[in-house]
Amino acid sequence: MSISANNPDRTSWLHVDKNSDFPIQNIPFGVFLTRDDIITIGTRIGDTAIDLGALHQLGYFDGIPLTDDIFLQDTLNDFIADGRKTWRLVRNRISELFDSNNTSLKNNKKNKETVLFRLDEIEMQLPAQIGDYTDFYASKEHATNVGIMFRGVENALMPNWLHLPVGYHGRSSSIIPSGIPVHRPQGQTLPAGATSPVFGPSKLVDFELEMAFITTDANDLGEPIPIEEAEEYIFGLVLFNDWSARDIQKWEYVPLGPFLGKNFASSISPWIVTLDALEPFRVDTPKQDPQPLEYLQFKGKKSFDIKLEASIQPKNAKETIVSKSNFKYMYWNMAQQLAHHTVNGCPVNSGDMMGSGTISGPTEDSYGSMLELSWKGEKSIPMKDGTERKFINDYDTVIMRGYSEKDGTRIGFGEVKSQLLPIFNPKKKK
Ligand code: MN
Repeated sequence: MSISANNPDRTSWLHVDKNSDFPIQNIPFGVFLTRDDIITIGTRIGDTAIDLGALHQLGYFDGIPLTDDIFLQDTLNDFIADGRKTWRLVRNRISELFDSNNTSLKNNKKNKETVLFRLDEIEMQLPAQIGDYTDFYASKEHATNVGIMFRGVENALMPNWLHLPVGYHGRSSSIIPSGIPVHRPQGQTLPAGATSPVFGPSKLVDFELEMAFITTDANDLGEPIPIEEAEEYIFGLVLFNDWSARDIQKWEYVPLGPFLGKNFASSISPWIVTLDALEPFRVDTPKQDPQPLEYLQFKGKKSFDIKLEASIQPKNAKETIVSKSNFKYMYWNMAQQLAHHTVNGCPVNSGDMMGSGTISGPTEDSYGSMLELSWKGEKSIPMKDGTERKFINDYDTVIMRGYSEKDGTRIGFGEVKSQLLPIFNPKKKK
């Protein structure tokens, strides 16, 4: 089926700013609370949010096999489970309906009042109920940098790293949408030179510049997903700030990997941009040497050119961009990750989320974490307000943005923005 929604020549009768992340070619999916306090599934064109539940009730999706309540839900899981054919039919229909040349909704004032919202009238929610969350470690530059800092140059990349996409199972309970603040975590750390640990606030709170993909129902227990089919089961992507406490992580991670240093919070951008919308921005992944085992070998362009950036905004001050990276730097691509994840028969469900791991580029200004940017605290990063950062301070806001752009079409993710608060104070809780 063709993806007519991607037609680069199409314009919308809704206003779209020239540098908007959300032209009519994007049509992402999200969940929001409307001005009437009703939760619904929606999309966005420019700065207008569109209530898909209301559009469906008004008959604008007639002819597409959808259950009556598919968009009147508080998560996208059931819609995602309908599969790629349905996602395409719905995106294509939305695209036709908001095309400059289509007057059916444009000239219906009453229906427009029902389905269209300004962004300040809605509140974005988590787009899916994330059942399981896995985080990979797919950037060679990041794995090498962290390996040098934790184990030295000789043992930077572990012997398995070039042969499989290393990952771990995280917690979905602490995945939150953009805008929700995060408390500095407390935990055990081993101070430099000490022989026994102490308990207290993490001193090294960090961000991880990542993206994450959301899957549909993919396989049954025992059934691997072949690599050539893997992308059919990927609904779309979000920006992902995988908050990390480096001092807690360093003490706890041996031998089973990340635990409390990672699972206190991870923030995502609220609009899921479909893999279909990103189709025009495919690029090659970095050359893999040695060649991976057969079940991880792939054909074609399996990465996407998505420009990424991370900023720190101190309280009451301007933000400073501290990193500019790109999704295409990932050594292991999403198809390889999903094929590897299921090769033992592990089932993947609708709404599962897989993080890329920190995406660092080859240059010092493209590192995707403060751990690398400050080289474990040996260097300071200047802020526009005259202060410096090695890690994240209380009341700093971390903002991540990402977009693809080619031949005048820009498809973006908006932002994921969250503030770090001081440690949780039980006396302040009412
Ligand atoms: Mn991570």
